[in-house]
Amino acid sequence: MQIEPILAFEDNYIWALRKGGQVALVDPGEASPVERLLKQTGDQLSAIIVTHHHGDHIGGIAELVARYPVPVYGPAREAQAVVTHPLAEGDHVTLLGVDFAVMEVPGHTLGHIVYYARDGLLFCGDTLFGAGCGRVFEGTLAQMHTALARIAALPATTQVYCAHEYTESCLRFAKTVEPNNAAIAARIESVKCQRAARQPSVPSTLAEELATNPFLRWQAPGVIAAATAHLGHPPANDTETFSAIRIWRDQL
Ligand code: ZN
Ligand code: FE
Repeated sequence: MQIEPILAFEDNYIWALRKGGQVALVDPGEASPVERLLKQTGDQLSAIIVTHHHGDHIGGIAELVARYPVPVYGPAREAQAVVTHPLAEGDHVTLLGVDFAVMEVPGHTLGHIVYYARDGLLFCGDTLFGAGCGRVFEGTLAQMHTALARIAALPATTQVYCAHEYTESCLRFAKTVEPNNAAIAARIESVKCQRAARQPSVPSTLAEELATNPFLRWQAPGVIAAATAHLGHPPANDTETFSAIRIWRDQL
C-alpha cells in the first residue's frame, strides 16, 4: 500500500491510501484536489474515513460521495450526516486489506477518533501533530492528556500521519519549552530542509515525537521545569504538566 498526502487548503493533508487501483481517503476536507488525483491516476475511490467533525476534515465528502457512492466511516459520538458507518472504541475497519483499530481520543473534539494499524500506521487527525498537538476545543485538558498518553503507548516505530503541516511552528514552541533538547534542534534543521524542498514534514515516527514533542514529554525534566516556571509552582502530576504546556501554547 502507498500512502500519499494530498494538500488541501493551506496546510491540511488528506491522506490517500492507494493499492491496486483503489484509493481510500482520510479526512477529505476538500473535494477538488482529490478529484485531480483520481483523474491523474485513474484510481477508483473505495472508502473514506474521518477523524472528527471539523469542516477542514469533512468538507469535501458530500461532493465526493455524490459522484462516488462509497462508505464513509467516522466517529459515532459526533453526529455527521455524511458518515454512513459510525465507529466507536475498539471497532475495526478494513481499508485496502489493512485492518485498522479505532481508538476514541476526546480532547480536540469530544468524538475524535484515530485509526491504528498494527503494522505501524496511525491516522491521528488533529490530536497529535508533528511536534505539537491539537487545541483542546471541546474536551478537557485531562481528556487530551489521556488521549495523548494512549497514543504515546503505541509502538515507537509507528508512523504518525497527522492532518496538518504545522511542524515548523510547533517546533519553534518546542524549542521555547526545551531550549537544550538536541533532538528538537536537529529536527528543526531537517524540517527546514524538507519544507525548502516543498516536501511534507510528515509522517513522522512516534519515536521522533517522543523525543521532540513537548505534548508527549510531560515526564521530561526540561518540560517539568518549564511547566513549573509557567505555573509558579511544581506541577502536581503529569496531567498538570501537560496542561500547563498546552495553556502556555494557547497564550502565544
Ligand atoms: Zn480539527
Ligand atoms: Fe484540522
